[in-house]
Amino acid sequence: MESHVLAKWIRSRAEKREEAAGQHCTGCRSTIAGTTDDQLRASGGTFLAGAGWFCGPRCERQYRLRFRIQPAATPSAGSDAAAPTPRTPTPRPAPLVSDPPETPTPARRSAADELAEALRARRRSGSGG
Ligand SMILES: [Zn+2]
Repeated sequence: MESHVLAKWIRSRAEKREEAAGQHCTGCRSTIAGTTDDQLRASGGTFLAGAGWFCGPRCERQYRLRFRIQPAATPSAGSDAAAPTPRTPTPRPAPLVSDPPETPTPARRSAADELAEALRARRRSGSGG
């Protein structure tokens, strides 16, 4: 079948990956030539803390716009981004499942009444002559 083709493809990809010594642009995934920061910067790469390397300031800008990342030059902003901790609903104690108290329900009673009445009527018509 084509399994060997797939294996070859995977291997070729892996080899390519190893070959690429440079960084990958976080924005467009293109390879930035260079192994050291200086080399990466020389080839136009820019580094964004928390995001990684970008092939250029354009990609960095796009990435910032997309994820609303404030430029690093901003003065210390207040830590108002603290997300409120989600309140965990306290689990209610399971109600003790016991046999329901034997209280005659109206439906039951009426049914019994109906039955008794039916019996009575039957008896009357049956025994009557
Ligand atoms: Zn890029």
